[in-house]
Amino acid sequence: MHVLVVNAGSSSLKYQLVHVETGRVIAKGICERVGSPESFIKHERNGEKAVTELPLPDHVASVHAVIDALVDGENPAIAALSDIHAIGFRIVHGGQYFDKSVIIDEEVIARIDELSELAPLHNKPAISAIRACQKLMPETPMVAVFDTSFFQTLPPAAYLYPIPYEYYEKYGIRKYGAHGTSHRYVAYRAAQMLGESLDDLKLITCHLGSGCSMTAIDHGQAIDTSMGFTPLDGLMMGTRCGIIDPAIVPFLMDHEGFNTAQINEVLNKKSGLLGISGTSNDLRSIDEAADKGDPRAAMAYEMFAHSVKRYLGSYTYLMAGVDAIVLTAGVGENSAKMRRLIFAGMQRLGIRIDDKKNKMMGSFERIISHEKSRVTVMVIPTDEEYMIAKDTYEIVSAM
Ligand code: ADP
Repeated sequence: MHVLVVNAGSSSLKYQLVHVETGRVIAKGICERVGSPESFIKHERNGEKAVTELPLPDHVASVHAVIDALVDGENPAIAALSDIHAIGFRIVHGGQYFDKSVIIDEEVIARIDELSELAPLHNKPAISAIRACQKLMPETPMVAVFDTSFFQTLPPAAYLYPIPYEYYEKYGIRKYGAHGTSHRYVAYRAAQMLGESLDDLKLITCHLGSGCSMTAIDHGQAIDTSMGFTPLDGLMMGTRCGIIDPAIVPFLMDHEGFNTAQINEVLNKKSGLLGISGTSNDLRSIDEAADKGDPRAAMAYEMFAHSVKRYLGSYTYLMAGVDAIVLTAGVGENSAKMRRLIFAGMQRLGIRIDDKKNKMMGSFERIISHEKSRVTVMVIPTDEEYMIAKDTYEIVSAM
């Protein structure tokens, strides 16, 4: 089955055509700067990349451009639209309505639309993309895969905030989590690599990229996660602050005269690694600067590790132990130095990293803990698109 995976952001639309049975990516690409005069599509097939500038005023135009890129040209990925057997959409927010991926119908679209307030940059663009696909391929089954659904197993003790309960009832203010498809994918792969059922494992999955989040997965169920009502919560990130004393918000608004947009900008775009270092949101640059003696870069680096350790400790306690810790995304997959810092000195907790294995570079799945380590530490490159394709395949095949 060929599944087209569509991931619509505010000004971009990523796509992949996946042959699900083999996991082969037939073609992939991205429409960028959608809505601006400099829009273009980058299409990749058989290792060859082509960039075409063309007007993409909205996501309807982007979907048309994607279909053209797949069907046209010298070496088309598919002969006809009918070769797309199903479409899977990444949906950022499923609120409390969706605890798993679902076939898209009018009711599902209405719910996604209703949740737009919680994910203003993502849910509306996703609906535009769905509508455009429905017009072009009215008979093709479509599936919504939500970033939040994996966290619907959190118990109220984990998802409620200790603020007046009426705000939960009135506005739905609670922890929803994010990066769910990534956490679900690496957990699924970790269980396969360990040759065990997810139902028998206590896992902590760490998605450490520009955005960072961690999840405690107890016997296959997410029981806590670090991102919250929005993706601003939890770990220190590239430009986001993660958890801070909430009293800092009104304090800064009073003392700096910030309005809500400005305070949001500070906490989302000017904080994290960038805020502390003052120079970069990229861990590689921070590392280089720290090596050259920049004290703020060194502090940012330390703080990042500290933030991850805090959650490792907290989640180990919440699950009364941990069998495996999985690292993924840009930092988790690539930074041996950060991994070393995070796990150094944890032998007493049963965590021992094998330095040689930790230093191996490359985008492949591996165990980096010592064979005598009680806790297995793994690096697993994330693949959200594959997970979306797999969900779509399973739901459509069962129809
Ligand atoms: P996103 O997809 O969320 O934009 P990524 O998962 O690509 O982010 O992660 C980006 C982060 O990964 C950046 O901070 C970058 O510095 C870091 N990163 C990538 N490669 C390395 C590396 N070799 N060493 C250290 N950090 C790295």
